[in-house]
Amino acid sequence: MRSLVLIGHGSHLNSESASAVYRYAELLREKGTFDEVIEGYWKEEPSLRQVLRTVSFTDVTVIPMFISEGYFTETVIPRELGLGHQGPVPKDGIARVIGGRTVRYTLPYGVHPAMSDVILDRAREACPDLDGKDTALVIIGHGTTRNANSSRVVYENADRIRAMGIFSEVSALFLDEDPRLSTWPDVTTSPRVVMVPFFASEGWHTLETIPDDLGLTGPVSELEGRVVYYAKPTGTHPKVADVISNLAEEARGASPRGGELDGGHEAAWQAFEAKASLGLRMGEILITPHDGLFEVRHALDEGRDFLKTYVTPEGLRDVVREDERGEQRPIRTLRSLPRGWRGVFDRANLRRAVHFLYPAVVEESFACSSHALHWTPWATTARRQTGIYAKVASAKPDLVASVSKEVCGSCLRTRLWAGEKLPKTFFDGVPGALPCAEACTLLVAEVREAMSSKGKAAGH
Ligand code: SF4
Repeated sequence: MRSLVLIGHGSHLNSESASAVYRYAELLREKGTFDEVIEGYWKEEPSLRQVLRTVSFTDVTVIPMFISEGYFTETVIPRELGLGHQGPVPKDGIARVIGGRTVRYTLPYGVHPAMSDVILDRAREACPDLDGKDTALVIIGHGTTRNANSSRVVYENADRIRAMGIFSEVSALFLDEDPRLSTWPDVTTSPRVVMVPFFASEGWHTLETIPDDLGLTGPVSELEGRVVYYAKPTGTHPKVADVISNLAEEARGASPRGGELDGGHEAAWQAFEAKASLGLRMGEILITPHDGLFEVRHALDEGRDFLKTYVTPEGLRDVVREDERGEQRPIRTLRSLPRGWRGVFDRANLRRAVHFLYPAVVEESFACSSHALHWTPWATTARRQTGIYAKVASAKPDLVASVSKEVCGSCLRTRLWAGEKLPKTFFDGVPGALPCAEACTLLVAEVREAMSSKGKAAGH
């Protein structure tokens, strides 16, 4: 029995940012290689600090959904997962036992050698009558002078594909470092040029910056007396799901047996199901049993007809990721759950639906009710921050308190990390009593923002 966790960046503002990871998780669930596939994010929930609590099995493979190694894959994710590792991840990944679970952390999918096949597929899609004798391949990387890893993976793919002898020429060119993309007419001589962006997702660069800089007129353009074919980004290709599967299989290495059901996790969900079978209010939702199924709706929609019905956890998930104004809900316990829907699920899908509605809340509330939830004070969370967030370690307590009052005032959770007490939870019949064991990244970001604004106002 094995759990797979896909880690994405996510966003406090844009719900689209998490979509690619959700899509790959769904593809991998359909493949059925893993008994469970869970998503986790840096800037959304389930957060990196929570996500390991939400897995069902004791054998967990964690894959960073990034196109190259760098700050997030080497510093932020290992730190937040508690792997006790910082810096480059070895080729075979890292294995640790955390809270009774064996956790295997791999390199990001983008550095897997099979990504060369994905590049070739993208090139063939863009240029179906590809004839290597008269066609050059340009792999476009982002590049940055601050992170050599970002360009290294592009060069490695270029070398691998060059060695296959399929194209007359193969070049690696970049947006933010030399050799620049603008030099393509000088570094290629073939009459046809296929350009493949080595990017994780479709976005500003692939849709605007690159086409504008090159002067493309469409998927096929005539430029500088050559025919230029512009491919879709590699990171959105369905084959990436196979790359992830391969990576996970390789991480399993010499330990193919897998794990077992995690006892603590299972106890929390069985206790939850026992409550749900009798009818349950939890946060802003109401769960009602009906003939072996469970109906979930906003508690304020109790007794209301003409609600839109969802029968898959994913369908409901996509509704509750935004509020009624269409704004992102990075923290799912913010008091902005939209109304007007109902979900009808069997027992297994009820777990997944509640996980999407309130990630980690069942596990953490059960631990809190059992007096077993460890909380992390603000000072520890603040000291752990790096990069642009490191400065929050020097935030004055009154500033943290005032920002927290504003941010956490819109959230259902009770701040154990700030010394607040929560003697009972929804498990004990208090629907709105949900614990917050550690300040979330939204609060950390808001504290940083408040420090920057204060600094500017003071002329620093
Ligand atoms: Fe909610 Fe505040 Fe906890 Fe974030 S830190 S989850 S906003 S209570």
